[in-house]
Amino acid sequence: MAMSAKVDHARQLQLVRYPDGMVAEQDVTIANVVLPPLGDGEMLVAARYISVDPAIRVYMDPNGLLGQNKALFDVVGVHTGQRLHSWIVGEVIESRSAAFPVGSVVRELNGQAGVQDYCVLSEQDVALVDPALAPLSAYLGALGMPGFTAYAGLIDVGRPAPGETVVVSAAAGGVGGIVGQIAKAQGCHVIGIAGGADKCAYARDELGYDACIDYKSEHVGSALDRFCPAGINVYFDNVGGKIVDQCIARLADHGRVIVCGAMSDYQGSTTPIYNYFNILSRRARIEGFNYYDVIVDRDRFNRVDQQLRRLVKSGSLKPQSRIFDGLDNFVPALRAIYQGRTCGKTMLKI
Ligand code: NAP
Repeated sequence: MAMSAKVDHARQLQLVRYPDGMVAEQDVTIANVVLPPLGDGEMLVAARYISVDPAIRVYMDPNGLLGQNKALFDVVGVHTGQRLHSWIVGEVIESRSAAFPVGSVVRELNGQAGVQDYCVLSEQDVALVDPALAPLSAYLGALGMPGFTAYAGLIDVGRPAPGETVVVSAAAGGVGGIVGQIAKAQGCHVIGIAGGADKCAYARDELGYDACIDYKSEHVGSALDRFCPAGINVYFDNVGGKIVDQCIARLADHGRVIVCGAMSDYQGSTTPIYNYFNILSRRARIEGFNYYDVIVDRDRFNRVDQQLRRLVKSGSLKPQSRIFDGLDNFVPALRAIYQGRTCGKTMLKI
């Protein structure tokens, strides 16, 4: 029987130039790097899927939005010459961890695995995945970081009650597509906002939204007035900019705005909020939150994990993904997100 060759190198995405506007092919390179030897509790993982997230563009920009929070940039940011990092799901092919022996399938929890085909991970940074419950790609989507973000943001921060009106922007995307399905499972009236007629049809037909507003061809405010006649109880914001302002203007009393992301500001521009006073007059709440808040709280992590598994098992939450092939497609995949050409969770298959 032929012995398989020992893996001691990886193909790794590195930043060579800070992007100016949209990420370009010339901003990154694929380097061949030597993998470090395994320490106690570490394992060598062959990546099967690597998450491509819009925030990676923000991590590449020390003078951008995250530059305002230097302590956070020092943790998640990337300087030229350094590797890009993300979430991965993969198979353990060598191990010095009793909890994660060779053959285990794991997902990385902190977004700190390299964007590379093989990586060394510590047992503190991974969780086992159950390939019998859902395809491996689902562990980067509905059962991974975006699922935890969607569930904790909507349920813990937004606290929607059955019958309330929930509005979701980037409604057909990785996080938004999960928020919409969870809100429907909660018994809410759910309105999406997405770019283009096809995406809106997908949001209604595949994800179960009651209606979806095409912000590229409709006036968002007028459409919200039509679909949310009693106002918005919960707005799950993925995009910031003019859309959050339109939603703040239409909050119901005690409305909640969950600030998950600000896609429209990630490439350098910022947009003023004109309807600020409505937060006071509606006694509304605006709250930002972060996936890492869930990761650091073991009880909360386990509760969210159980709920997501229950929803997937029952069929109320269907994992959706847009898969690009191989590391060479990292930049095209990231660009596709910003150009609105993806539905579901975007990732690379390795
Ligand atoms: P995604 O929704 O799959 O993709 C982003 C979507 O944003 C695009 O498909 C596009 O949808 C829309 N978009 C792109 N450029 C835009 C612009 N200039 N203005 C308005 N919309 C734009 O991405 P995702 O990974 O699920 O992330 C969604 C948001 O959640 C992002 O803001 C991300 O940073 C944030 N997030 C936050 C956390 C957290 O811990 N707080 C965790 C994960 C993600 P349309 O074609 O419909 O416009």
